[in-house]
Amino acid sequence: MRIRIGQGYDIHRLVEGRKLRLGGYTLPEQTRGLLGHSDADVLLHALIDALLGALALGDIGQWFSDRDPQWKDADSALLLKTVLEAPQLQAWKLLNLDATIIAQEPRLQAHIPAIRQSLADLLRCDCTQVSVKAKTNEGLDAVGTGQAIAVQVVLLVGH
Ligand code: MG
Repeated sequence: MRIRIGQGYDIHRLVEGRKLRLGGYTLPEQTRGLLGHSDADVLLHALIDALLGALALGDIGQWFSDRDPQWKDADSALLLKTVLEAPQLQAWKLLNLDATIIAQEPRLQAHIPAIRQSLADLLRCDCTQVSVKAKTNEGLDAVGTGQAIAVQVVLLVGH
């Protein structure tokens, strides 16, 4: 079996009046969400970069320009679907992914099962292949003061 590893990172600013989307899941009852050209789903963006990185296919900005009106307020699940359906990915299967969401607020622990399930649904894999961890930044920097949420993703693909 051939195996490739990929890693992705993203960060988006938290602002009033936006939906908070993480891994294709909309967190209920949030007054603040992430700012971006698309729906700013920071977890899906890091995941897309990890997938593209695993196969040395560039990065999300090259695939989906933030100046392209087509992607204005786009559902990032559609971006992921576009990547998953690309010819270059057809031979490969996701083996596992491990994501870390770094957010001072909101508290994410209660939402982790729903986020994992959403990712598994989008990736058409089993929940056991999808790890999502959440941590704060101990009050330090822009993430730690609640101004942004960052995500790191590592994954393996194989065939
Ligand atoms: Mg992004």
